[in-house]
Amino acid sequence: MARYTGPVCRMCRTEQKKLMLKGDRCKSDKCPINRKRAAPGKDPKARPGKRSDYGVQLREKQKLRKIYGMQEKQFHLFFERALRMPGITGENLFVLLERRLDNIVYRLRFASSRSQARQVVSHGHVLVNGRRINIPSYLVKAEDEVSIAEKSRNMTLVKDALKEFGKAGLMPWLSLDPDAMKGKFLAAPRRSDITDLGDIKEQMIIEYYSK
Ligand code: SF4
Repeated sequence: MARYTGPVCRMCRTEQKKLMLKGDRCKSDKCPINRKRAAPGKDPKARPGKRSDYGVQLREKQKLRKIYGMQEKQFHLFFERALRMPGITGENLFVLLERRLDNIVYRLRFASSRSQARQVVSHGHVLVNGRRINIPSYLVKAEDEVSIAEKSRNMTLVKDALKEFGKAGLMPWLSLDPDAMKGKFLAAPRRSDITDLGDIKEQMIIEYYSK
């Protein structure tokens, strides 16, 4: 699967929003958004121009896609799947994104960013219900147990991430046993439970793909 290999903070600067792509650095003073760096190629003193409806919808879609670290093709496939599911498409999309294994590994504090979580998964360090899964886009189901493989439990990256976060701020649809390095996806979250992504307007994303 192709992946973006350019400067990560540039993605946040383009959206002028903290997408939290770099773990600890995102909370530090080194974050370019905290330092009010302008969007790439933009004069910091220039007034922001008015965006077309299409431009606004595109940016909303790009923000969500970048937060979950996905390429356009895969993100679009997730959207198509959300569209075919019963219920509200926007909610379905969030549920599918949250069920990604790399996202759960990040949310369980086994990695300090989603990109780091993707690496941990694709290098075979993660088990789902005791079975090794190395596909970051694998969709976890309710009651599935996600754990770090026995021989990977000494990995500094995982230990540091767990130490940094502990149990603080664990999402209500997850449970975590940090000592055993295992957690559970209890149930699919509701949109209103996902409070840490800022003001993403999923309706705009639906309108973008409906053209
Ligand atoms: Fe970089 Fe994180 Fe700040 Fe985004 S939020 S600009 S990834 S440090």
